Amino acid sequence: MEQNGQARIGVYICHCGLNIAGTVNVSEVREFISRAPGVVVARDYKFMCSDPGQTLIQNDIEELQLNRVVVAACSPLMHELTFRNAARKAGLNRYLVQIANIREHCSWIHDDVGMATEKARALVLAAVRRVALHQPLEPMRAPVNPNVLIVGAGIAGIQAALEIAESGNTVYLVEREPTIGGRMGQFDKTFPTLDCAACILTPKMVSVGHREKIKLLTMSEVVGCSGFIGNFKIRVRRKARFVDESKCTGCGQCWNICPATRVPRKRTIRLGDQIVKQVS
Ligand code: SF4
Ligand code: SF4
Repeated sequence: MEQNGQARIGVYICHCGLNIAGTVNVSEVREFISRAPGVVVARDYKFMCSDPGQTLIQNDIEELQLNRVVVAACSPLMHELTFRNAARKAGLNRYLVQIANIREHCSWIHDDVGMATEKARALVLAAVRRVALHQPLEPMRAPVNPNVLIVGAGIAGIQAALEIAESGNTVYLVEREPTIGGRMGQFDKTFPTLDCAACILTPKMVSVGHREKIKLLTMSEVVGCSGFIGNFKIRVRRKARFVDESKCTGCGQCWNICPATRVPRKRTIRLGDQIVKQVS
Protein backbone atom coordinates (compact mmCIF):
# COMPACT_ATOMS: atom_id res chain seq x y z
CA MET A 1 0.00 0.00 0.00
CA GLU A 2 1.32 3.45 -0.94
CA GLN A 3 1.78 5.25 2.38
CA ASN A 4 3.80 8.27 1.33
CA GLY A 5 1.84 9.62 -1.63
CA GLN A 6 -1.38 11.64 -1.74
CA ALA A 7 -3.01 11.54 1.68
CA ARG A 8 -6.16 9.40 1.86
CA ILE A 9 -7.36 9.98 5.37
CA GLY A 10 -10.10 8.19 7.29
CA VAL A 11 -11.53 9.99 10.33
CA TYR A 12 -13.32 8.05 13.08
CA ILE A 13 -15.20 9.94 15.76
CA CYS A 14 -16.10 8.07 18.91
CA HIS A 15 -19.21 8.74 21.04
CA CYS A 16 -17.81 6.87 24.07
CA GLY A 17 -21.45 6.32 25.01
CA LEU A 18 -22.46 9.75 26.26
CA ASN A 19 -18.95 10.59 27.52
CA ILE A 20 -18.27 12.44 24.30
CA ALA A 21 -21.65 12.48 22.53
CA GLY A 22 -23.34 14.00 25.60
CA THR A 23 -21.36 17.23 25.17
CA VAL A 24 -20.06 17.20 21.61
CA ASN A 25 -22.35 17.14 18.59
CA VAL A 26 -20.62 14.20 16.97
CA SER A 27 -22.62 14.29 13.69
CA GLU A 28 -21.72 17.94 13.21
CA VAL A 29 -18.02 17.19 13.70
CA ARG A 30 -18.28 14.32 11.20
CA GLU A 31 -20.01 16.50 8.62
CA PHE A 32 -17.45 19.25 9.07
CA ILE A 33 -14.37 17.03 8.83
CA SER A 34 -15.66 15.03 5.85
CA ARG A 35 -15.10 18.18 3.75
CA ALA A 36 -11.48 18.69 4.87
CA PRO A 37 -8.74 18.22 2.23
CA GLY A 38 -7.48 14.64 2.04
CA VAL A 39 -10.36 13.15 4.00
CA VAL A 40 -11.82 10.19 2.10
CA VAL A 41 -14.22 8.95 4.74
CA ALA A 42 -15.49 10.21 8.09
CA ARG A 43 -17.55 8.04 10.41
CA ASP A 44 -18.81 8.14 13.97
CA TYR A 45 -19.42 5.13 16.16
CA LYS A 46 -20.57 4.47 19.73
CA PHE A 47 -17.46 2.69 21.04
CA MET A 48 -14.58 2.94 18.63
CA CYS A 49 -12.19 0.80 20.73
CA SER A 50 -14.61 -2.16 20.64
CA ASP A 51 -13.96 -4.98 18.16
CA PRO A 52 -16.66 -3.72 15.74
CA GLY A 53 -15.16 -0.21 15.96
CA GLN A 54 -11.68 -1.45 15.11
CA THR A 55 -13.06 -3.65 12.33
CA LEU A 56 -14.77 -0.58 10.87
CA ILE A 57 -11.39 1.14 10.59
CA GLN A 58 -9.60 -1.93 9.25
CA ASN A 59 -12.23 -2.54 6.54
CA ASP A 60 -11.96 1.07 5.37
CA ILE A 61 -8.15 0.89 5.25
CA GLU A 62 -8.38 -2.14 2.98
CA GLU A 63 -11.40 -1.21 0.87
CA LEU A 64 -10.82 2.54 0.46
CA GLN A 65 -6.99 2.33 0.35
CA LEU A 66 -6.65 4.72 3.28
CA ASN A 67 -3.04 5.69 3.98
CA ARG A 68 -3.71 7.83 7.08
CA VAL A 69 -6.14 7.43 10.01
CA VAL A 70 -7.39 9.90 12.61
CA VAL A 71 -9.32 8.62 15.62
CA ALA A 72 -11.13 11.32 17.59
CA ALA A 73 -11.71 9.73 20.97
CA CYS A 74 -10.09 9.59 24.41
CA SER A 75 -6.53 10.37 25.49
CA PRO A 76 -3.81 8.63 23.46
CA LEU A 77 -2.66 7.16 26.78
CA MET A 78 -5.81 5.02 26.73
CA HIS A 79 -6.03 3.60 23.23
CA GLU A 80 -3.35 4.93 20.90
CA LEU A 81 -1.72 1.50 20.93
CA THR A 82 -5.08 -0.19 20.29
CA PHE A 83 -5.68 1.83 17.13
CA ARG A 84 -2.07 1.61 15.98
CA ASN A 85 -2.23 -2.17 16.24
CA ALA A 86 -5.58 -2.27 14.44
CA ALA A 87 -4.10 -0.20 11.60
CA ARG A 88 -0.98 -2.37 11.43
CA LYS A 89 -3.12 -5.52 11.10
CA ALA A 90 -4.82 -3.91 8.09
CA GLY A 91 -1.46 -3.22 6.45
CA LEU A 92 -0.98 0.44 7.44
CA ASN A 93 2.21 1.63 9.08
CA ARG A 94 1.13 2.18 12.67
CA TYR A 95 2.73 5.61 12.91
CA LEU A 96 0.31 6.91 10.28
CA VAL A 97 -2.40 6.96 12.95
CA GLN A 98 -3.13 10.15 14.86
CA ILE A 99 -5.38 10.54 17.91
CA ALA A 100 -7.45 13.67 18.53
CA ASN A 101 -8.32 13.80 22.21
CA ILE A 102 -11.89 15.08 22.26
CA ARG A 103 -12.80 13.45 25.56
CA GLU A 104 -10.33 14.50 28.31
CA HIS A 105 -9.39 17.67 26.40
CA CYS A 106 -12.92 18.59 25.37
CA SER A 107 -16.15 16.84 26.37
CA TRP A 108 -15.13 16.13 29.97
CA ILE A 109 -14.08 19.69 30.69
CA HIS A 110 -16.86 21.63 28.95
CA ASP A 111 -20.63 21.72 29.37
CA ASP A 112 -21.61 24.10 26.59
CA VAL A 113 -22.44 21.86 23.63
CA GLY A 114 -21.92 24.59 21.02
CA MET A 115 -18.48 25.59 22.27
CA ALA A 116 -17.39 22.01 22.94
CA THR A 117 -18.40 21.04 19.40
CA GLU A 118 -16.47 23.96 17.95
CA LYS A 119 -13.39 22.94 19.93
CA ALA A 120 -13.78 19.30 18.86
CA ARG A 121 -13.93 20.42 15.23
CA ALA A 122 -10.68 22.35 15.70
CA LEU A 123 -8.95 19.41 17.44
CA VAL A 124 -9.98 16.94 14.75
CA LEU A 125 -8.99 19.30 11.93
CA ALA A 126 -5.57 19.81 13.54
CA ALA A 127 -5.12 16.03 13.74
CA VAL A 128 -6.07 15.65 10.07
CA ARG A 129 -3.56 18.29 9.00
CA ARG A 130 -0.90 16.76 11.16
CA VAL A 131 -1.38 13.15 10.04
CA ALA A 132 -1.10 14.27 6.41
CA LEU A 133 2.54 15.13 7.20
CA HIS A 134 3.36 11.87 8.97
CA GLN A 135 5.99 9.56 7.53
CA PRO A 136 5.97 5.79 8.03
CA LEU A 137 8.43 4.78 10.74
CA GLU A 138 9.92 1.51 11.91
CA PRO A 139 10.80 0.77 15.54
CA MET A 140 14.52 0.44 16.14
CA ARG A 141 16.77 -0.60 18.98
CA ALA A 142 19.34 1.87 20.25
CA PRO A 143 21.87 1.60 23.03
CA VAL A 144 20.79 3.45 26.14
CA ASN A 145 23.01 4.73 28.92
CA PRO A 146 21.25 3.55 32.11
CA ASN A 147 23.19 5.82 34.48
CA VAL A 148 21.10 8.29 36.45
CA LEU A 149 21.80 11.88 37.48
CA ILE A 150 20.10 13.26 40.58
CA VAL A 151 20.40 16.97 41.27
CA GLY A 152 20.17 17.82 44.96
CA ALA A 153 21.15 15.51 47.81
CA GLY A 154 18.41 16.35 50.27
CA ILE A 155 16.41 13.50 51.76
CA ALA A 156 14.47 12.98 48.50
CA GLY A 157 17.64 12.85 46.39
CA ILE A 158 19.37 10.57 48.88
CA GLN A 159 16.47 8.13 49.06
CA ALA A 160 16.11 8.06 45.26
CA ALA A 161 19.86 7.47 44.86
CA LEU A 162 19.84 4.60 47.35
CA GLU A 163 16.91 2.87 45.68
CA ILE A 164 18.31 3.26 42.17
CA ALA A 165 21.73 2.03 43.31
CA GLU A 166 20.00 -0.92 44.99
CA SER A 167 18.45 -1.84 41.64
CA GLY A 168 21.95 -2.00 40.13
CA ASN A 169 22.28 1.29 38.26
CA THR A 170 24.99 3.89 38.71
CA VAL A 171 23.82 7.20 40.17
CA TYR A 172 25.56 10.57 39.98
CA LEU A 173 24.32 12.56 42.96
CA VAL A 174 25.11 16.26 42.53
CA GLU A 175 24.94 18.61 45.52
CA ARG A 176 26.03 22.23 45.52
CA GLU A 177 26.70 22.34 49.28
CA PRO A 178 29.81 20.76 50.87
CA THR A 179 27.63 18.15 52.59
CA ILE A 180 24.50 16.20 51.78
CA GLY A 181 21.29 16.04 53.82
CA GLY A 182 19.70 19.34 52.82
CA ARG A 183 16.97 20.90 54.95
CA MET A 184 16.22 17.73 56.88
CA GLY A 185 19.65 17.94 58.45
CA GLN A 186 18.59 21.26 60.01
CA PHE A 187 15.45 19.91 61.67
CA ASP A 188 15.10 18.38 65.10
CA LYS A 189 11.88 16.44 64.51
CA THR A 190 9.82 15.48 61.48
CA PHE A 191 6.09 16.08 61.10
CA PRO A 192 3.64 14.45 61.80
CA THR A 193 5.27 11.55 63.65
CA LEU A 194 7.80 13.70 65.55
CA ASP A 195 10.56 11.23 64.73
CA CYS A 196 14.13 12.34 65.28
CA ALA A 197 15.21 13.82 61.92
CA ALA A 198 18.89 12.99 62.36
CA CYS A 199 18.05 9.38 63.28
CA ILE A 200 16.34 8.95 59.91
CA LEU A 201 18.80 10.97 57.88
CA THR A 202 22.28 10.09 59.10
CA PRO A 203 22.18 6.33 58.35
CA LYS A 204 21.09 7.17 54.82
CA MET A 205 23.90 9.74 54.47
CA VAL A 206 26.43 7.13 55.57
CA SER A 207 24.92 4.63 53.15
CA VAL A 208 25.34 7.06 50.26
CA GLY A 209 29.02 7.42 51.10
CA HIS A 210 29.53 3.65 51.12
CA ARG A 211 27.67 2.67 47.97
CA GLU A 212 29.97 1.98 45.05
CA LYS A 213 27.16 2.65 42.62
CA ILE A 214 26.63 6.19 43.95
CA LYS A 215 29.10 8.78 42.67
CA LEU A 216 28.75 11.68 45.06
CA LEU A 217 29.65 15.12 43.69
CA THR A 218 29.45 17.69 46.47
CA MET A 219 30.30 21.38 45.97
CA SER A 220 29.20 20.82 42.40
CA GLU A 221 26.58 22.29 40.11
CA VAL A 222 25.05 21.23 36.82
CA VAL A 223 25.97 23.87 34.24
CA GLY A 224 24.91 22.23 31.00
CA CYS A 225 22.65 19.54 29.63
CA SER A 226 22.41 18.29 26.06
CA GLY A 227 21.42 15.14 24.19
CA PHE A 228 18.22 13.13 24.42
CA ILE A 229 16.59 10.28 26.31
CA GLY A 230 19.13 7.51 26.84
CA ASN A 231 22.04 9.67 25.71
CA PHE A 232 22.22 12.82 27.80
CA LYS A 233 25.48 14.69 28.23
CA ILE A 234 25.71 16.66 31.47
CA ARG A 235 28.34 19.25 32.35
CA VAL A 236 29.05 19.59 36.07
CA ARG A 237 31.22 22.29 37.60
CA ARG A 238 33.11 20.97 40.64
CA LYS A 239 34.30 23.74 42.91
CA ALA A 240 37.89 23.74 44.19
CA ARG A 241 38.50 21.68 47.36
CA PHE A 242 41.90 23.00 48.47
CA VAL A 243 42.41 19.72 50.39
CA ASP A 244 43.17 16.16 49.36
CA GLU A 245 39.75 14.51 49.71
CA SER A 246 41.26 11.05 49.96
CA LYS A 247 43.20 12.08 53.07
CA CYS A 248 40.80 14.52 54.78
CA THR A 249 39.00 12.95 57.75
CA GLY A 250 36.68 15.90 58.31
CA CYS A 251 38.19 16.54 61.75
CA GLY A 252 37.60 20.27 61.39
CA GLN A 253 40.96 21.42 62.81
CA CYS A 254 41.71 23.54 59.76
CA TRP A 255 38.53 25.54 60.26
CA ASN A 256 40.02 27.13 63.38
CA ILE A 257 42.92 28.62 61.48
CA CYS A 258 41.20 29.25 58.17
CA PRO A 259 41.57 32.96 57.32
CA ALA A 260 38.11 32.95 55.75
CA THR A 261 36.48 32.24 59.12
CA ARG A 262 38.29 35.18 60.74
CA VAL A 263 36.95 37.74 58.32
CA PRO A 264 33.85 39.27 59.93
CA ARG A 265 30.85 38.74 57.68
CA LYS A 266 27.80 40.91 58.02
CA ARG A 267 24.47 39.58 56.90
CA THR A 268 21.62 41.96 56.15
CA ILE A 269 18.06 40.89 56.89
CA ARG A 270 15.48 42.71 54.76
CA LEU A 271 11.72 42.86 54.89
CA GLY A 272 10.72 44.08 51.45
CA ASP A 273 12.90 47.16 50.77
CA GLN A 274 13.47 47.87 54.44
CA ILE A 275 16.64 46.75 56.30
CA VAL A 276 15.43 45.14 59.53
CA LYS A 277 18.67 43.92 61.09
CA GLN A 278 22.36 43.39 60.45
CA VAL A 279 23.93 40.32 62.04
CA SER A 280 27.48 39.00 62.05
S1 SF4 B 1 -12.02 4.67 22.23
FE1 SF4 B 1 -11.84 5.83 24.12
S2 SF4 B 1 -13.45 7.36 23.89
FE2 SF4 B 1 -13.97 5.71 22.48
S3 SF4 B 1 -15.25 4.24 23.60
FE3 SF4 B 1 -13.16 3.56 23.81
S4 SF4 B 1 -12.52 4.50 25.76
FE4 SF4 B 1 -14.33 5.64 25.08
S1 SF4 C 1 42.51 19.54 59.21
FE1 SF4 C 1 40.95 17.92 59.25
S2 SF4 C 1 39.23 18.79 58.14
FE2 SF4 C 1 40.99 20.07 57.66
S3 SF4 C 1 41.80 19.18 55.76
FE3 SF4 C 1 42.91 18.23 57.44
S4 SF4 C 1 41.76 16.36 57.88
FE4 SF4 C 1 40.43 17.65 56.65
